[in-house]
Amino acid sequence: MPDCIIFDLDTTLAKSKQPIDAAMAHTLAALLTKARVAVASGGKCDQLQTQVADRLPPHAPLERLYLLPTSGAALYVYENGVWKQVYEEALSQDEANTIERAMHQANEQVHVIDFSEPAYGERIEFRGAEVSLSVLGQKAPIEAKQKWDPGRTKREALRAALAPLLPNYEVRIGGTTTIDVTKKGIDKAYGVHRLAEYLSIPIAHMLYVGDELRPGGNDEVVIATGIPTHAVTDPDDTKQFIESLLKHA
Ligand SMILES: [Mg+2]
Repeated sequence: MPDCIIFDLDTTLAKSKQPIDAAMAHTLAALLTKARVAVASGGKCDQLQTQVADRLPPHAPLERLYLLPTSGAALYVYENGVWKQVYEEALSQDEANTIERAMHQANEQVHVIDFSEPAYGERIEFRGAEVSLSVLGQKAPIEAKQKWDPGRTKREALRAALAPLLPNYEVRIGGTTTIDVTKKGIDKAYGVHRLAEYLSIPIAHMLYVGDELRPGGNDEVVIATGIPTHAVTDPDDTKQFIESLLKHA
């Protein structure tokens, strides 16, 4: 059993922006009694709390759970009944405005979004340490999101147009309809390093579980940290993997 297991959230623990299901909550609570567990996602902290922490049974030891929201640009720990920020690589409002303008400019080159069309909630969200462009809006239904860019070509085109406009930032594909921007050098790999340092656990004693470890996937960056990894296909696959870990614990 690794000392700390970091899980990607979307499509690893839960479907895009959905809460983890009851069986996953039960399995994660059991895992928390054997190892420290962290959740890494492009979402903001309250999103991770709603999707994961709030779903765990009341007896789950939340002080062994760590949240790495906004793609590792921040770390939250549970202390005395509240989530406490350990660090955040925040962007200023000026930086957020620059990034938002660049997102519009990039789209003018590739035309994958019609900003005059109504969306499900706002399309561009400033998440403190990250600016996220969710093409259909932050509250879009999962069916619509899955239909929008199944081949990734629209997101790839948008990312390729945006990156040269923001050379001082990290520009990457986040979720099914999302492009995420953080400070240069701030990504899930940065989050892995900061968490290992915070816990004083060697990275080699940790494990990263994600659905996008393949080249170009949004979990791939963690491989360079040297963290052992395990690839999964969906939350059911992850559940089975955790159960197999528990069986051998
Ligand atoms: Mg994922």
